[in-house]
Amino acid sequence: MKKTVIITLFILILSLMSCSDKRYSSQYWGLFDTVVDVEGYFETEEEFKRADALIHSTLSYYHNLFDIYNDAEFANLKTVNESGGKTLEVSPDLFEFLEYIKEAERMTGGACNPALGAVSSLWKEAIENRTLPNEAFLEEASRHCDINTVVLDKKNLTVTLTDPEVRLDVGAIGKGYAAKKLAEVLRENGFDNVLVNIGGNVTAIGEKKDGESWAVGIKSPTKDENAAVVEISNTNLVTSGGYERGAQIEGAYYHHIINPETLSPAAGHLSVSVMCEDGALADVLSTALFIVSLEEGQEMIKNFDGVEVLWIEPSGEKISTPGLPQEK
Ligand code: AMP
Ligand code: MG
Repeated sequence: MKKTVIITLFILILSLMSCSDKRYSSQYWGLFDTVVDVEGYFETEEEFKRADALIHSTLSYYHNLFDIYNDAEFANLKTVNESGGKTLEVSPDLFEFLEYIKEAERMTGGACNPALGAVSSLWKEAIENRTLPNEAFLEEASRHCDINTVVLDKKNLTVTLTDPEVRLDVGAIGKGYAAKKLAEVLRENGFDNVLVNIGGNVTAIGEKKDGESWAVGIKSPTKDENAAVVEISNTNLVTSGGYERGAQIEGAYYHHIINPETLSPAAGHLSVSVMCEDGALADVLSTALFIVSLEEGQEMIKNFDGVEVLWIEPSGEKISTPGLPQEK
């Protein structure tokens, strides 16, 4: 009897403790050229503020490190892009990331190629100016997209662009990589009920609260509604879609995800969503799977454990692996 009372009291105290967690949220603009939404459950406002400051400073750091347009207080990707073939010493963090982007290209058989900057920048300009890129310029740019010309020296922490005209563009990987690092930092600091959404790259650190998951929508690429809703905790959900950034040019729609083989926007799918525990991998794979055919993609994911995918096709058809729902 006494034991039962103690156990009941213990459960009551535990449930009271978790009920005291309140929902807090915040939003930042500009990091990774997108909107970052944060929500989480915390015991006190101070705890939330501590987590919020940590999230903002960590994401700002990676934003600056991966920036190809602005200088930072340290060597960043702009410094690498402008190194003109000279050997450049970089920080351990940047070096590790450069190793990862080379690995990403290898893992995806070249579909996700972060050295595609010379070509992808022509398409970015084209979309902005609503004018198709010059074929000859595209052809010339495609000669400077070989990731093997990004040469790393692990002992000395240096990078050399042996083709000085190669330009890194890590739009396909940077957000997911930063999200992965952020999840590590938050967990190390004892925060494990946080959801961070970096412009559609969603990372769930822990669960929502009390064993509940977060319900995250996958946008329909054609309508202003969700195509599916996924319950997530302790994982990532990342979507690549042509609908996200593009323009109507000369009567056709062109977007920002480029097939390295055709040098044009990839045409096989309307969107591809990937769920997996590794946030960087989710980002790499969503881009790569958006580029390759369904069959090639289904082969590609056999190389990885615990990767779930939802393809939305131009016909409107949804195809998914067993772990991802197709319903709202
Ligand atoms: P995501 O939204 O993660 O699929 O990444 C798309 C972004 O990655 C684009 O806006 C470009 O900056 C860049 N990009 C486009 N095509 C490729 C490609 N084939 N490989 C790597 N990055 C790419
Ligand atoms: Mg990506």
